[in-house]
Amino acid sequence: MPRLLLATTNQGKLREYCHLLKGLPFEIVTPADEGIDITVDEKKKTFKENARLKATTYSRLSGLVTLADDSGLEVDALGGGPGIISARFAGEQASDRDRVEHLLARLKEVPWEKRTARFRCVIAIATPEGRTELCDGECQGLIAFQPKGENGFGYDPVFYLPEFGKTIAELTLEAKNQVSHRGKAARKAYRILERLAEKAKA
Ligand code: IMP
Repeated sequence: MPRLLLATTNQGKLREYCHLLKGLPFEIVTPADEGIDITVDEKKKTFKENARLKATTYSRLSGLVTLADDSGLEVDALGGGPGIISARFAGEQASDRDRVEHLLARLKEVPWEKRTARFRCVIAIATPEGRTELCDGECQGLIAFQPKGENGFGYDPVFYLPEFGKTIAELTLEAKNQVSHRGKAARKAYRILERLAEKAKA
């Protein structure tokens, strides 16, 4: 079976992708499995550019079909921030808990109806021949006043989904994948990867 490199060291993303990409005719490997230990400087201006840069860099290094995503949170009351700097919002060394606290502090005076937000995810799939394909997904919700739930990662404990009456961190992995930005993008990526696997066989 051909190998697919999942170009992330984020354990939360890895767990979700392993579930989302189940059944594809690829063996999924990580940068650690391939002995790759680099940090790609995500200093581009858009999710698309950052995802493309990550996927092409890892594909060049590994010689493998590579899937990378760039994702983040856009909060309307913060003018769409933190956006592409979601991972670094509370500083380079901050933990998930620090980021959540920082976000809640910034939104302290913001009333419920103005706490609208969305997660965005752009997936880039790069081939060793130098081709890249992009797909995306988004998930709309509101930023809760306090964290709730133990599942997921990142901002999940404060990302409230009105249709469930719960934060994403209160959902199972399967339920999150059904509705999340990453789940939506990954279902498009699945079809691209199926096509690539077919082509490789022909
Ligand atoms: P990056 O894609 O590695 O730049 O990181 C994006 C950052 O956005 C993560 O470190 C999280 O803080 C946040 N983020 C992205 N997707 C999710 C998600 O599904 N749940 C919660 N936080 C997320």
